[in-house]
Amino acid sequence: MYTRIDGKEVSASVRNAITEKVNDLKAKGVTPGLAVIIVGNDPASRVYVNNKKKGCEQTGMNSFEYALPEETTTEELISLIEKLNGEKDVHGILCQLPVPKHIDEEKVLNTISPDKDVDAFHPVNCGKVMTGDYTFAPCTPAGMVEMLKYYNIPVAGKHCVIIGRSNIVGKPMAMLMLKENATVTVCHSRTENLAEITKQADILVAAVGRPKFVTADMVKDGAVVLDVGINRMEDGKLCGDVDFDAVCEKTSYITPVPGGVGPMTITMLLKNTLAAAENTF
Ligand code: NAD
Repeated sequence: MYTRIDGKEVSASVRNAITEKVNDLKAKGVTPGLAVIIVGNDPASRVYVNNKKKGCEQTGMNSFEYALPEETTTEELISLIEKLNGEKDVHGILCQLPVPKHIDEEKVLNTISPDKDVDAFHPVNCGKVMTGDYTFAPCTPAGMVEMLKYYNIPVAGKHCVIIGRSNIVGKPMAMLMLKENATVTVCHSRTENLAEITKQADILVAAVGRPKFVTADMVKDGAVVLDVGINRMEDGKLCGDVDFDAVCEKTSYITPVPGGVGPMTITMLLKNTLAAAENTF
């Protein structure tokens, strides 16, 4: 028998705690505010931005949307961010990715003040995650750690295998799991004998971006499986990186897609926005 980790339940519990703290700050005259920048008309980005705004509203924070046309230049975007860096009511700034191809994404992300970089993408904040002493936790990995804690799943001393080495999921997840005293292995597209390694995992994290990539023969009996993947299938349905139906019976805990890791990411963004506002005192 396995437990299906309920990301919506964990998320609701964290959001309740955030709302209480937002109310405390409001009583002191400060309302946490998040500036959300979206460039162009990508429908998926629009959904994410709407959900971020909804999250702010639900927890009592302000959100400020800046919807810019597709043809916005890097310079125009940078000058908006520089303006927001100086605004007192804006505690967090995020630029929804991906930006159109002609925009220099790295330059844009590096312009966001590290004190307002609630996505934790700025090199300063990436560096802080590396040292383990940070204000802004990388949202998707932090969401997974929060889920492990909510379900009292032991991490210290366990072998955590992460498939994927991206800057926003795989690498920061490795840092957070090290901070929790796990033994960490990071696998990627050039890893040899992948299944031999994943079969050793007490906690297996899949962040590959390929539907049903993790099959039952890659999972140890009793493993905890966290599925980061969000893959849109031809029928429009979402599918994770794990073949859930084939794998679930082997696991002790597993996250579904949708309803697992996904709901946690925006919640951790809200938590970072709260932290940014608290930091101004
Ligand atoms: P990415 O494309 O940047 O990285 C994918 C990683 O998978 C790479 O490091 C690559 O080395 C590895 N990989 C590719 N093929 C492999 C193979 N055959 N064997 C082993 N490793 C392989 O993707 P990402 O940004 O880390 O996102 C991964 C998935 O997670 C995507 O589906 C994305 O949509 C999803 N995602 C979800 C959330 C969330 O909130 N739940 C957040 C970010 C990303």
